[in-house]
Amino acid sequence: MSERFFIEHPPTGTEVAFDEAESQHLAKVMRAEVGDVVVGFDGRGTEYQIELTSVGKKKVVGAVRHQAEVSREAARRLTLAVALPKGDRQRWLVEKCVELGVARLVPLLTKRGVAQPVEKAIDRLRRAVVEASKQCERNHLMVVDPGQSLEEVLASRPAASFLMHPSGEAMHHQAIVPASDVLAIIGPEGGFTDEEVAQAAEHGCQVVSLGPRILRVETAALAMATLVTALPAP
Ligand code: SAM
Repeated sequence: MSERFFIEHPPTGTEVAFDEAESQHLAKVMRAEVGDVVVGFDGRGTEYQIELTSVGKKKVVGAVRHQAEVSREAARRLTLAVALPKGDRQRWLVEKCVELGVARLVPLLTKRGVAQPVEKAIDRLRRAVVEASKQCERNHLMVVDPGQSLEEVLASRPAASFLMHPSGEAMHHQAIVPASDVLAIIGPEGGFTDEEVAQAAEHGCQVVSLGPRILRVETAALAMATLVTALPAP
């Protein structure tokens, strides 16, 4: 069975109990049977070979036959602070961030932001992280933080921090090369206010542009993710 299954709670001894959603996926969609061997991952870096010992519609249990730390993380730790778009575009953005190896996504609260990152919406995005990680074979879950203001994001910024802005200085990938920890801040559809741009610059962020076209929020976020995560280790 080539699919991967998320293990929310670490195995007790060798026994693994899948949660209801994963059990349903195994039992109903994959039609798993006792004796099948499946791949599980715990979201903290460990991958497991699990032999199923009991298959119920709502609860599937297995025994760990092999386990190993397997990292498929990018060489740099990238945090994207993004003024999230609305609706399905959020989920799409999260899925692609997971695939590209973004370490952390911070829903950013801005003056012109449109989406309110309420707890229910954040929970949905965290579930989307699990689904995307199953598909792309990533073993560490991308962290989705609760919403933060620009001030909060800037307070804990790494040395290599960039505020993405169409009229900023041209982005040079050399600015990323020496950094192991990178922050990119992406604004809402209406853009950052002049005050927000000035605030980020005062905190030492580089205000950078990805070219003369106006990109949608997701495009700007994913272009930056590609730039950062495709580079080899510093
Ligand atoms: N009229 C708005 C402005 O001028 O800022 C457009 C906002 S754009 C749709 C949404 C966000 O994507 C921007 O706030 C910025 O963070 C990012 N973005 C869009 N185009 C960009 C570009 N060419 N370079 C860098 N960032 C860009």
